Amino acid sequence: MKENILRLHREAVVVDTHVDTLKCLSPQFSRLKDSIWADLSQIGMGVRSNIGQVDIPRLREGGVDCQVFAISSARERTPPFALRTALDMVDIFYNECEKNKETLAPVTSYDEIMKAVKQGKVAAMLSIEGADVIEGRLSMLRIFHRLGIRMVGLVHHLRNLLADGVTDSRTGGGLSELGVQVVEELDRISVLIDVSHLSDDGFWDLMDVAKGPVVASHSNSRAVCDHPRNMTDEMIEALADRGGVMGVNFVPSFVHPTHATVQGVVDHIDHIVDLVGPDHVGLGSDFIPSTPQGLEDVSRMPNITAELIHRSYSEEDIKKILGGNHLRLIKRVIG
Ligand SMILES: [Zn+2]
Repeated sequence: MKENILRLHREAVVVDTHVDTLKCLSPQFSRLKDSIWADLSQIGMGVRSNIGQVDIPRLREGGVDCQVFAISSARERTPPFALRTALDMVDIFYNECEKNKETLAPVTSYDEIMKAVKQGKVAAMLSIEGADVIEGRLSMLRIFHRLGIRMVGLVHHLRNLLADGVTDSRTGGGLSELGVQVVEELDRISVLIDVSHLSDDGFWDLMDVAKGPVVASHSNSRAVCDHPRNMTDEMIEALADRGGVMGVNFVPSFVHPTHATVQGVVDHIDHIVDLVGPDHVGLGSDFIPSTPQGLEDVSRMPNITAELIHRSYSEEDIKKILGGNHLRLIKRVIG
């Protein structure tokens, strides 16, 4: 790869707001008979492997400075043990940080991210994808906050006690009363609210309730690729008006209906920048079993930078897109 591409990519603080790697590390998911997840539960994150898409050596090759790791409820997999599964994932996360403390640093604030970056480590932040795991209790939300979680999405695919997931939104409901309380509590304890996976009605209701800017940790544009998991232009404008940021997602079916490529991912970035300017888009890879051409694993992240340079983005805007926008939001909301 050309030197100027790699120089710019290394200079940028690269932030990715969503991967499912904790599922690969968790026997609960990766060792299921029909699991789609690469099984890293024996190998861990410290070794460069050719299974899965994410481990520490490949995060470093891909120049990722801050990675958000999602704790996922997957209601269809975990009842009645969503909370227990989530706590196991917190344990796995801190064990990995401990085993790899020269290269992976758990972080809970902007300053900790920048300190890890200075030390040449990957900053690792925890999020929750699907707040089923709090089992309806605000106290659990506060405990998860104390355990280091700094980003929370109310739902995963399905409806839960808080709201409708996008694949379970037949009745067009917004947030439940409990969902409203959860949003208010997240605002109060300065946890970033994640709107990815919410139904459209849930999104609009949440935008009425939430006070500050929100993140869409792994969502694309519906105008570019018509998929219900992607956001309409109106939703993107509302997110941007409030100072929010969306991380573009690499899941092939969210990128392009038939042929997903790194260029296709950047088409989503282009559309969002055309719509709301360069301050509201970042990366949220969602690295999972199938990937677009040119983004086969996290080590290929510089291909995004190459494509942005190819499309004549300024260095300043490229740095914002690779991580600056997410960092601004983290600093503002989480502190
Ligand atoms: Zn997801």
